Amino acid sequence: MKCVICKHGETAPGKATVTLERGGTTLVVKGVPAQVCSTCGEQYVDEGAAGRVLNMVREAAASGVQVEVREYVAIEAEEAGVTSGK
Ligand SMILES: [Zn+2]
Repeated sequence: MKCVICKHGETAPGKATVTLERGGTTLVVKGVPAQVCSTCGEQYVDEGAAGRVLNMVREAAASGVQVEVREYVAIEAEEAGVTSGK
């Protein structure tokens, strides 16, 4: 897709590092699937991945984590099972 930030670049599949804060918790997630602009480097995190990253920060906040760095792990097969379940 065309980048909406610089309006010139085209995005290509890549990996992003996402930092999220929730309450007193800061979570850094590396290797998140994203579309990355070839011109300005803007990162558009995939919709499904963004949902999973949000779940990760919720879990981290619930367990009282202050700062944590995690690697994003793709679980496409598991995701399919989870979404089709109850
Ligand atoms: Zn751009």
